[in-house]
Formats: sequence, structure tokens, C-alpha cells
Amino acid sequence: MRQISPTLISFHSSSSFSFPCFATTPRLKTQVCFKFHIRSMASHIVGYPRMGPKRELKFALESFWDGKSSAEELQKVAADLRVSIWKQMADAGIKYIPSNTFSYYDHVLDTTAMLGAVPLRYGWSCGEIGFDIYFSMARGNASVPAMEMTKWFDTNYHYIVPELGPDVEFSYASHKAVQEYKEAKALGIDTIPVLVGPVSYLLLSKLAKGVEKSFSLLSLIDKIVPIYKQVVAELKAAGASWIQFDEPTLVMDLDSQKLHAFTHAYKELEPSVSGLNVLIETYFADLPAEAYNTVTALKGVTAIGFDVVRGSKTVDLIKDGFPRGKYLFAGVVDGRNIWANDLNASLSTLQALESVVGKDKLVVSTSCSLLHTAVDLVNETKLDKELKSWLAFAAQKLLEVNALAKALSGQKDEAFFSANAAAQASRRSSPRVANKAVQKATAAVKGSDHRRVTNVGARLAAQQEKLNLPVLPTTTIGSFPQTLGLRKVRREYKANKISEEEYVRAIKEEIKVVVKLQEELGLDVLVHGEPERNDMVEYFGEQLSGFAFTVNGWVQSYGSRCVKPPIIYGDVSRPKAMTVFWSTLAQSMTKHPMKGMLTGPVTILNWSFVRNDQPRFETCYQIALAIKDEVEDLEKAGINVIQIDEAALREGLPLRKSEQAFYLDWAVHSFRITNCAFQDTTQIHTHMCYSNFNDIINSIMDMDADVITIENSRSDEKLLSVFCEGVKYSAGIGPGVYDIHSPRIPTTEEITDRVNKMLAVLESNVLWVNPDCGLKTRKYSEVKPALSNMVAAAKRARVQLASAK
Ligand code: GLN
Ligand code: ZN
Repeated sequence: MRQISPTLISFHSSSSFSFPCFATTPRLKTQVCFKFHIRSMASHIVGYPRMGPKRELKFALESFWDGKSSAEELQKVAADLRVSIWKQMADAGIKYIPSNTFSYYDHVLDTTAMLGAVPLRYGWSCGEIGFDIYFSMARGNASVPAMEMTKWFDTNYHYIVPELGPDVEFSYASHKAVQEYKEAKALGIDTIPVLVGPVSYLLLSKLAKGVEKSFSLLSLIDKIVPIYKQVVAELKAAGASWIQFDEPTLVMDLDSQKLHAFTHAYKELEPSVSGLNVLIETYFADLPAEAYNTVTALKGVTAIGFDVVRGSKTVDLIKDGFPRGKYLFAGVVDGRNIWANDLNASLSTLQALESVVGKDKLVVSTSCSLLHTAVDLVNETKLDKELKSWLAFAAQKLLEVNALAKALSGQKDEAFFSANAAAQASRRSSPRVANKAVQKATAAVKGSDHRRVTNVGARLAAQQEKLNLPVLPTTTIGSFPQTLGLRKVRREYKANKISEEEYVRAIKEEIKVVVKLQEELGLDVLVHGEPERNDMVEYFGEQLSGFAFTVNGWVQSYGSRCVKPPIIYGDVSRPKAMTVFWSTLAQSMTKHPMKGMLTGPVTILNWSFVRNDQPRFETCYQIALAIKDEVEDLEKAGINVIQIDEAALREGLPLRKSEQAFYLDWAVHSFRITNCAFQDTTQIHTHMCYSNFNDIINSIMDMDADVITIENSRSDEKLLSVFCEGVKYSAGIGPGVYDIHSPRIPTTEEITDRVNKMLAVLESNVLWVNPDCGLKTRKYSEVKPALSNMVAAAKRARVQLASAK
């Protein structure tokens, strides 16, 4: 077989090539892009956001799903987005431009479609997979629920989990990768098609229902690689010269058997077999030494991509040895953040790497797909100039990658570099960033421990004396339905269309309704319903200093859903009380205890774009101190129960086991800082989403909250098994008794059943009865009967308990 030379033959590398500029491209731009392409710069982008700068894809998808537009209209929006992204990259001078990084929902689901691995219940038998089957898998349909979704590594992106087993009949069922390659090619842009690599695909899958637990998913490798080979052959026939396989699982703790799967699979896909140059792309963390040795030993592989931002140890491994003749794609531009790159620092890293791998073997890249950052800074109309100069979203990161590649090849754009250096310097010395008092207070908490003096058992007794709650107390997690009217009031207040007085009146009215409803339902510990909050992080960020907010800084979370994380750019402090007004107002409306409702420091941190100029824990401690001030004010104002949500604590857990203990240590410490200095009679609650806590149960106990409410109902009571295994939990605990993510109304019987299951493993005096998350996404027509049944179930269980005595 012919050995393919690793030199990319693309239009960029030839000076005689005339770049097919688009009809809409102005003349000046034509000259610029021509100039960029006279000499090929070694630049590459791992992947790009799909939603569009103003979430065009989101709106097109939702309109299609609602039956308001046709498949063709959706396809047109998608095609336009792809064209504009490819064009943008070509204009920026990127040499290795990715294709097939677009997705209508999720790239792992795209791979499932490519492999024809459709679960039987969707009724697909053969043929090219269309929107019908694809979106049924993603979102469910009238008769079949969706496939499971889970977090993509430690990002806030969620993928659809493949369901596999020995009986899955794989077949090449979606030609999307080839179609997109051809689409770009037709524009004169030769791309690198990107596929989720076969080993990561299997490692990210789960066993289909009914498959023996002992079945090894990796044993399917010989069934899926032949399909990958078909795709590759078709790409080659279409003119591709490279292919990128994303194998991010290489950064995880993999045993030797799993690592061997890479060696086995890539023997079949290497250039001498596939006829294409092969890039294996890794990201999100350092590579463990064994994984590094495995991937660098893959003989035929042309190039390997590493995350150099999160991979400082990988850099050391590279310096210790990198295979001769292979390309190194060095991800120096951060795909997980919104900060402008420190170009001079990156350039010196690149130069050091170049001296190891050789002059023409280094390619400048992003640390991972830019999917995890915001799209384009150009659309930020509300950020000031100085702050903007510190930032780079995906569109700006393209320019950074290219500027670094040019500089590396001796064509440094001095103006670009000096503007960047000036911005870096202004960020380093800005008084907006540094707050000496905050730094001093943070330094003082580090290194020392913070715990409540009295143990939880004694505290609960003191609290019970004050609160006088029944056994199995009932409560909710905080938010009540966010009606259209409510959203309108907030929107109009923000836009100065209604006065503060009118706004306060409307919110107060809403709280009154929510309090009254809870009293009628017979709940024991009430909430004010969070009507004044759009989002549990943004609400606090807007009142803390050191935070900035974007208008269009959306990042895809799953499907058409996006989040807009705040930007933490400076030392965090709390100028004034944030929730006391609403909480005391709500408390004044009832004799029942009213929960103060705060978002915890770890969750605020994990759901924001955080500073990269200090360690994460430093920022977390600062937020913790600000929240502590708020707890203090709430206590002083007579609020006896305070919930500090840590919905995202589990999310921040580092990918590698060796780093988890350190994270858990400072995260849990930060939580304790918020509430350790208060009276025993002040009852601290916390709430967490997701149920996969069994591995961190000790850290959860170490948070030392008085009561924890936790998700449980979607996971077949996985959580409870930890208590069956003998973990002694003596604080209050409320594993959610029903799933608020579903519109289904649970019956009293099934809730009673759940409560009884919990009582089998937990003492009755620690158990609380509550839904598994906030109710803001539900309708009142669902919430009222569901809570009514929940309270009835608690009452029924109380009677059973009393008669059993
Ligand atoms: N208190 C918040 C609410 O009820 C908690 C939300 C969450 O856990 N994600 O909405
Ligand atoms: Zn929750």
C-alpha cells in the first residue's frame, strides 16, 4: 500500500492557488486572505461552536420541533452557519479547518447515527438516518422516551449516551461527515473531517438494558472499526487528505486493557491502511504517562493533538520525548475560557516545543473544541472597552491561533502582539481586578479549618426546639413556577419600563401567592419561590463585585439549550445584602419557618467563566466570604433556616482521581466557611442536583450541613444504596421523592412507597420529604397536585410511623 506523505496538500500551501473568495466578500478582504495564504501557517482549530453568534441554530431547531418550520428551513440555517464558520476560519488564515464539528444536537449522537447503533425501541431498521429517528433518540417522541444524556467530561456540555450490547448490528447509516466535507470542498475549502474516535465512543457508552453486566463494551471495537473504515474510504474518495479522531478519554485514568484498545483500533485506521493522514486529538487534561506512551507509540499515526493549557505535565512528557517525524498539534489557545491568550507566553511555550519536535512539525491549535466558549465578542455591546480587551471568544481565538502560527514561522504581526501585551498588562495592574481587603481576608481563611463548634446531632436538637417541626418535615427546593407574567415583569424592570416600586409590588404579590399556596398545601418549611431571580448564579453575580455579564456569551449545554455564564474578572466582594429584603418580606407573611435561599460558592464558581490569573480555589474562597456575609445578615434579620445551594459541586470534580481529593478539600472548605460562624439554632440546608454521589459521600458529610436535599428519583434510588452499605449519616437528609424534570404528576401511593424505601435505610428523625429540585420549569397545574400528593404521602408515613411505635 502506498505510504502517504504527511505533508498536507491543500490549497493553502500553494502560492499559485487563487482563493475562491465569496461573492459577498469585499475586495479588500480578498487581498487580505490571499496574503495570508501565500505561505501556509501551521494553524488548526479542534472544533467550533454550532449555535451561531446569536443562537440561530437554537431558534431554528425549536421552531422545527414546534412544527412551525420545515426540515428544509432548518437545513438552510444549519448550512449557512457552517459556511460562515468555514469562511471565517479561512479568512483568519487557519490551515487545518475542521468539518463535521457541526451537529443538529450532539456529536456523540451523530456518531451513533453514523454507526447505525439506534436502540431498537426507535423502530429504525435500515437506510440513512433522518431527522425523525435522530431527534427521537435525542428528545424522545410521543411513545418512546429519549436516550440518556450525561455530562461531556468536566464541561457543562451534555452528550447522548450510546446504548450498546452484543446484539447491536452496526451499519454505516449516516453520511454526515462526508456530506459536510464535500460541502466545504465545494466552497474551495479543504477541511479535516472530525470524528469521535472509536475507542472513546465505546468508553463513553453504556450497556443497553438487559445486557449482562460482565459484557465488555470494548469488545465491540472490531465491529465498529470496519464502519469507520468505510467512512474514511469515502472521505478519501471525496478528496480528503486528513482525518481527525477525537480521543479525549486518553486523559482519563485508563487501565492497560483500555489503552491496548487504542493500539488495536488504530492499526486498522493508520495512514497505510486508511490512505489519510491521521490526527489523534486529546483534550481537557494532562495525559497520564501510560496514555502518552500508548498514543505516541501508534506507529502510522501522523499527528497527535494535546491540550497544553490544562496539560502542563504533558508538556514535560513531550520534552522528554516525542516520536520523530510526527506532527504535534499544540493546543495553547484555551477553548474552555473567554480570556485573551497571553501571546508572548504561548509563543515561548511553542518555541520550546518546536525545539523538541522539529521546525515543520509543530501546529498551533486550540486546547479543545471552541464549543465550550462563547462565540463572538463583536456582539457584546454592554461590556466596556477595557474589559473587552481582556477577552477572546471563539471568533477572536481563531485570530490568536493564526497570529501565533505566523509568529512561529517568522512573520510576527508586531501590532497584534503589542496590543495583546498591552491588554495583558492592563489586566494585571487594573484596580478593577485587585481588592486588597478581599485578598487579605482570603489569605486568612486559607490553611485554617472552619467548622461549626457544636456537632450536628446537638445542633439538630437545638433547632428542633426552636422550629418545632413534625417528623418527616416537608419542604421544597426553592423556586416556584416562573410564569410568563413574572418573566415579563423582570424584563420590563430591567429595561426601565416599569418603576422599582411597581416591580417590588409585583414580586411581593407573587411571593404572597406562593406563601399562601404552601400554607394551604400544608408544607412545613416554606420558600419564597425565587420570583426575583432569572438564574441562580446570575442573580448573585449581578450583586457582587468582580463579575461581568455578556449579552450573547451563550455556550451550548445540550441540544438547543445554552447557558450564559457570568465572567468573574476581579476579586469578589459583596457591597451590600442581596437577599435579606425578599427573605424577610416573605417571612413576615407566615408563621412557618421561611428558608433563606442562597447559591453556594462552589456552584457560583463552577457555573461561571473564572479567572485564569489565580487558582480556582482562591476565587472560590472569595465568593465563600461574600456568601458568609449574606448568611450573617439573614441570621441577624431573623431567618432561622438558610439553604445554600451547591447544585454544581459534583460537576467541578477533576477528571483524574489524583486531583479529586484536593478539589473536594477546598470546595467543601469553602462551603463550610459560608456558615460555620453562626448560632446552633440556625439550620443550614444545602441542595445538590444529580445523584451520583456515592463516591463522594464522605465529602458531602464533611460539608457539615444540617440538612441536605438531593436528587434521587431519576436514578432508581442509587443514592440510597450508599446508606445500605453502612454509611452512617446523622444529619438531616431529603432525597427527592419525585422527579421535577418530568411533567408527570406522582401519586400519593408512589411517593409513600419511596418514603418507605428511604425509611428502610435512614432514621425517621433525619428524613425530610421534598421534590428533587426547584420547580421553576414546571407549571402550577403540575406543581399543585404533585405537592399536594407529596404532603399527603408524608402525612400517611407519619401515621404509619406512629402506629408502628
Ligand atoms: N434553589 C434553586 C431552585 O429551587 C436550586 C436549583 C438547582 O438546584 N439547580 O431553583
Ligand atoms: Zn437541583
